[in-house]
Amino acid sequence: MAEPASPAQIIDGKIYAERLRRDVADEVARLRAEHGLQPGLAVVLVGDDPASQIYVRSKGEHSLAAGMHSATYRLPAETTQDELVSLVKALNADPAIHGILVQLPLPKHLDERAVLAMLDPEKDVDGLTMINAGRLASGLPGLYPCTPVGCMMLLREAVGDLTGRRAVVVGRSMLVGRPIAQLLLQADCTVTIAHSRTRDLAAVCREADILVAAVGRPRMIRGDWIKPGAAVIDVGINRVPFDNPEKAAQGKTKVVGDVHFKEAAQVAGWITPVPGGVGLMTVAALLQNTVTAAKRAAGLEA
Ligand code: NDP
Repeated sequence: MAEPASPAQIIDGKIYAERLRRDVADEVARLRAEHGLQPGLAVVLVGDDPASQIYVRSKGEHSLAAGMHSATYRLPAETTQDELVSLVKALNADPAIHGILVQLPLPKHLDERAVLAMLDPEKDVDGLTMINAGRLASGLPGLYPCTPVGCMMLLREAVGDLTGRRAVVVGRSMLVGRPIAQLLLQADCTVTIAHSRTRDLAAVCREADILVAAVGRPRMIRGDWIKPGAAVIDVGINRVPFDNPEKAAQGKTKVVGDVHFKEAAQVAGWITPVPGGVGLMTVAALLQNTVTAAKRAAGLEA
C-alpha cells in the first residue's frame, strides 16, 4: 500500500468493469473461433420486483454484448416450487447453458435454499451452492460469488498486494460478507468479520487497512470510523429520499452506499463510490464466471 492520498482516490468501477467485460468478450470470441464454444448464461426471475427486473435486464444485455448465448426466464410471482425446480433441472441438463443464475430474493412462498440446492454446482455462476461455498472456504478452485470477486478485483487494481493487511468486513451474509472474507483470507489478509452483534463496531472498523461494508444500512459507516489511508469498499445499495427537500417531497429517491461517502473520502486512501463502484463489477464478474464454467464443461483449462 502506498502512502495515503487525501482526499481519497476514487476507485472507478466503470473503468475496471468495462475492461473486464472487454476481456470476457475477447475470450468468448476466441472460444467460438477456436473451439466452436459459445458460453451460455440463463437468468431466472420470479415475480416483478423492480430492482430485480433492472438487474436481470442488465445481465441479459451484457451477456449478449459479450457474444454469449443469453436466455432470460421471467416467471410469474405465483410460480410454484415444483415449477421453478423443474426449470432449474431442465437448465442443468441443457448443453447450451453453462451458467444459471436464479435472481434473489425469490417471492416469500418459495424456498430459496431448496432451489439453490438443485443447481448443478458446475453451472452455479453466482457461487451460492454448498459445494461452491465449501470450495471457497477450503481454498479450492470453484465458482465464487460475483460481487465478492468484483470487490477483490477493485482492491487489487487500486491497492496492489494485500498481503498482511488488516481487513474488516462488516456483514456476514452468504452472498457478500462471508465470501469476501474468505477471498481476503486467501489473499493473506488478517480478517475480521463484523455483524449486527459486534461490540464497538466503530473501533473494530478503525483497525482496518481494508474496510468492506456489506450491511444494507445507508451511510452507516462514518468518516471517524475509518483509519486514515484505508481502502474502503462500499458494497451497499440503499434507496433513500433526496437530500434536497423539494425532490424528497416529490417522492424522488437516490442510491447511496453503506458508507458516508463525503466524510469517508476525507479520511480514506481509496474508496468506491455508490453508484459507480462495486455494482458495476458484479455483472462483469458474472460474465467471467460463465466463461470459466463453459471452459470447464468443455474440458478446456479455465
Ligand atoms: P444481508 O441483509 O443479507 O446482510 C446484512 C449483514 O449486515 C448481516 O450480516 C447483518 O448482521 C449485518 N448488519 C445489519 N445491521 C448491522 C449493523 N447495524 N451493524 C453491523 N452489521 C449489521 O445483506 P447482503 O449481504 O445481501 O447485502 C448487503 C448490502 O449489499 C445491501 O445494501 C445490498 O443491497 C448490497 N448488495 C450489493 C451488491 C452489488 O452488486 N453492489 C450485490 C449484493 C448486495 P447479522 O448477520 O448479525 O444480521
